[in-house]
Amino acid sequence: MTAIPTIELNDGNAIPQLGFGVFQIPPEETERAVRLALEAGYRHIDTAEMYGNERGVGEAIRASGLDRADLYVTSKLNNGFHRPDDARRAFDDTLAALGFDYVDLFLIHWPLPTLYDGDYVSTWKTLEDFRSDGRARSIGVSNFQPEHLERLAAECDVTPAVNQIEAHPYFVNDEVRDYDRAHGIATQAWSPLAQGEVLDDPVITGIAERVGRTPAQVVLRWHIERGDIVFPKSTTPARIRENFELFDFRLEPDDVERIAALDKGEDGRIGPHPETFAYVPA
Ligand code: NAD
Repeated sequence: MTAIPTIELNDGNAIPQLGFGVFQIPPEETERAVRLALEAGYRHIDTAEMYGNERGVGEAIRASGLDRADLYVTSKLNNGFHRPDDARRAFDDTLAALGFDYVDLFLIHWPLPTLYDGDYVSTWKTLEDFRSDGRARSIGVSNFQPEHLERLAAECDVTPAVNQIEAHPYFVNDEVRDYDRAHGIATQAWSPLAQGEVLDDPVITGIAERVGRTPAQVVLRWHIERGDIVFPKSTTPARIRENFELFDFRLEPDDVERIAALDKGEDGRIGPHPETFAYVPA
C-alpha cells in the first residue's frame, strides 16, 4: 500500500498529508463511506460537528478493527458554541459522538468576526485548555484570515497548528497560505477539487492526458506539491480509491505553475468569505 507522507506540525505532532473529508455526506451514509476510505488506505478523517456525521466516523473506525493510535481524526467547533462554556460542552459532545477520549486535531470552524463581539480569542483560549488536558492532541483554526491570526498571536499563548482554508486552482489563496507558512502554521486546503468544478478545465485535462492520470489526481497532486494537507470527499468507491493514488507520480514544475495560473482571485471563491460569514445553525 502507498505510504502517505506526514507533515510535522509546530507542536511536534505529525499529520498525514492526505485524508478523507466527510462534508455533505449524510449521517446514514457516513459509516459506509468512511469504511470504504479506510479499506482504500486512508488513515486521516476530517469531520465537524456542523456536518452532523461524527457518530458515523467513530463507528466506521471502531468497526475497522484498526488501532485508534493509527488513525488521525479532526473535528471542529460549530458556530453556535464560541462562548467558552458552550465550547466546553460542544467539545464533550464531539468526543461522545465520535466515541473517543481524544481527537488528534480540533479546530474553530469559522472566526465569525461579526458575532460574539468579535471575540474568537476567548474561544481559542478554551481550545488551549483542551490541548493542555490532552483531549485534543493538536488545536488549530479554520477560515482564519491573517488579521485574525495576528490577533491570536498578540493575545494568546499557543500558535494554531493548522489553518484550514478554501484553496484550489481557481482560488489559490496564497495570501493566507504565505502568512501561514511564515508563522509555522500548516495549511489545509478545503474543497481541494473546488467540489468538482476544476476537473473539466482544459489545462487540467490536458496535463492529465499527458501524464496518464485523472484530472482529480492531477489537482490533488498539485496541492501535495505545494505542501498543503488535503482531504477530498467522495462517496463513490472507485473515486475514493482514485483520490488516494497520488504518491507514485510527480508533476513538472512547469505544470505546477500552469495550474496555479488558473487562479481567478476572489471570483474563484466558492465558499463564503470569512470576514462576513455569520451562519449559526439552528
Ligand atoms: P471537494 O473539493 O473534495 O470535492 C468533492 C466533490 O468532487 C465530490 O462530491 C464529487 O462530486 C467530486 N469528486 C471527488 N472525487 C472525484 C473524482 N476522483 N473524480 C471526479 N469527481 C470527483 O469538496 P469538499 O467536500 O467541499 O471539500 C473536501 C473536504 O474539505 C470536506 O469534505 C470537508 O472535510 C472539508 N471542508 C471544510 C470546510 C471548512 O469550512 N473548514 C468547508 C468545506 C469543506
